[in-house]
Amino acid sequence: MIEKRINELIEIINRASYEYYTLDRPTITDQEYDDYYHELEKLEAKYPELVKENSPTKRVGGKVIDSFKKITHTVPMMSLGDLFSEYEIREFDERIKKTIPNPSYVCELKIDGLSVALIYENGKLIRAATRGDGVTGEDITHNVETIKSVPLTIDFNEYLEVRGEIYMPKKSFKKLNEEREKNGEGLFANPRNAAAGSIRQLDSTIAAKRNLSTFIYHLPEPDKYNLSTHFSTLDFMKNLNFVVNPNIIVANNIEEVINYINEWTKKRDELPYEIDGIVIKVNDIGDQRKLGYTSRTPKWAIAYKFPAVQVLTKLINIEFCVGRTGKVTPRADLNPVHLAGSVISSVTLHNEDYIKEKDIMINDTIAIHKAGDVIPEVVKVITERRDGTQIPFKMPNVCPICGSKLIRKETEAAYYCENKFCDARNIEGLIHFVSRDAMYIDGFGERIIEDFYNMGYLKTIVDFYELKKHKQELMELEGFGEKSIQNLLDGIEDSKKNSLERFLFALGIRHVGKKTAKILAQKYGTIDNLTKSTYEELFSINDIGETIAKSVSDWFREEKNVETINKLKSYNLNMDYLGPQIIVQEDFQDKTFVLTGTLTEYSRDEASELISNRGGKVTNSVTKKTDVVIVGENPGSKFTKAQEFGIAIWDEEKFKNKLEGI
Ligand code: NAD
Repeated sequence: MIEKRINELIEIINRASYEYYTLDRPTITDQEYDDYYHELEKLEAKYPELVKENSPTKRVGGKVIDSFKKITHTVPMMSLGDLFSEYEIREFDERIKKTIPNPSYVCELKIDGLSVALIYENGKLIRAATRGDGVTGEDITHNVETIKSVPLTIDFNEYLEVRGEIYMPKKSFKKLNEEREKNGEGLFANPRNAAAGSIRQLDSTIAAKRNLSTFIYHLPEPDKYNLSTHFSTLDFMKNLNFVVNPNIIVANNIEEVINYINEWTKKRDELPYEIDGIVIKVNDIGDQRKLGYTSRTPKWAIAYKFPAVQVLTKLINIEFCVGRTGKVTPRADLNPVHLAGSVISSVTLHNEDYIKEKDIMINDTIAIHKAGDVIPEVVKVITERRDGTQIPFKMPNVCPICGSKLIRKETEAAYYCENKFCDARNIEGLIHFVSRDAMYIDGFGERIIEDFYNMGYLKTIVDFYELKKHKQELMELEGFGEKSIQNLLDGIEDSKKNSLERFLFALGIRHVGKKTAKILAQKYGTIDNLTKSTYEELFSINDIGETIAKSVSDWFREEKNVETINKLKSYNLNMDYLGPQIIVQEDFQDKTFVLTGTLTEYSRDEASELISNRGGKVTNSVTKKTDVVIVGENPGSKFTKAQEFGIAIWDEEKFKNKLEGI
């Protein structure tokens, strides 16, 4: 099984490498390639006896084409190890510190092009070569001579080899693809492939027209020129008129490295060329020597790769979820993929129209991204990857849970299960009732609700408040004891004190979200006032439109709903608006919080409100007085500062747990 997967991965990666390096025509994205590569690396680390001779982890780059003259590199041209998170960068630093206690680093932009070696003799460019497989490269001198930023002569008569990146500026890439489209030629996938495709041509007039450029960043034999730091090699090369990237810095510790990364993550789009990450190199050449090399990469350097903002994955199946309003939503099950810091295995497909418009089929390869950097969303179907196994989508005409006929409302794209007794709808309604923004009854997970529903203890929201009658029976259920049942009952009891807006939201009235519930609670003050409201009156409220006004007034006209409210009143549920709520919680009380980065489940405002509702204070900047810094995705310098000051750091998971008192 494992061996089969290893062989499969080797085949996929080797094919992709050939298409990428030799043909300059990738058929999978870099993210997919990296995912396969890392899966293979992990398997090989776990099962070293299964490492194969032809494994791509043993070599650099791709094959050298025969039509070019071959050049053997005097010093091998290596690749770079990669990593993807701040955590891994810190681990890299820790690893380095085991050998070099106080390392200083050079941070460089990782130019997305192809590497080149330039060799000079008697002040003249005599050879230029690609990296090839790291040992042997291709002679591309004729093409490199056409690149204006490469000096053909230098004021230095000793033998000299320098290395760097050939790249195609964004503007030239755009223009080139526009021309190719006009001429009906295939388009280049990205500037890197366009640069590689231009430089690996036998006819140099092509490269000459492509407006290629270079940044030089490496001197393979610094000792020969008495240079003792990487940064001084850059100066040395700059003085010989090589173009060295102006944004390179020396960082004296890992915090400065991380600041540099954060800065360029934000600014990368402003550059006229593509970068796909940041390269971090140990500055001192003696330190580099102590650290050494693996078979593919130096141990003294690493590439941090920017998270992909869009990835491809396979849509395996389409499932249908029935919500509490009866709305049936199609959801795609995906081959799990990493996207901007999380693993995505499903994505909503909203409704039938959306699926038709995007022409989505089962077994399609789709591109997904995170909308507003939070919710994953389908960008498009990669139709070129269709292989005949695709199955067209069909909206079911009956509810997948209860089998009743689905109805599509005239004004909506969604289909609804209208069966008020549909189990899926009822269970969702109960889950919603206890949820954090609704009645917030602690301890009721989805499983408990489903089990209690199936056992008949919980059929409607009123049943929560009658549950104590069954205390003895519940305590005897497997997996429960007196304490856990008492906790549930205490939570139910506490929920009776909630303010009106929570209760309104918990009722699950169609179109009444948290915000509307608050507006109604503030406006009417009590449930009785709201019950008496008319459609016209509701419609006249700011922020309340026709749909909400109709939904609310219809809901309160329905006898069954009035009965529910009366029943709940008899259990002494508060149904008055209590004003802004503060439920003091020890972890938050009198503490100062700072938020940085994007949280996936809460907006900044929501998180701040949740904190202040629990007795905490949110401020903008980190000082020594800050108690906790809450860190989301892509945090800014506040995170670094928090670490410097030794302030408590909560990630989103911890924040969520603390909110829930865990
Ligand atoms: P790499 O591109 O991840 O990193 C090493 C390279 O970075 C160096 O060889 C050098 O050319 C370049 N570089 C840019 N700026 C640099 C700087 N300032 N200092 C040092 N080096 C710098 O490694 P690689 O081995 O060239 O390529 C592997 C990557 O290529 C994969 O991670 C994947 O993203 C991509 N790839 C994609 C496919 C595909 O099918 N899509 C196939 C093969 C490889």
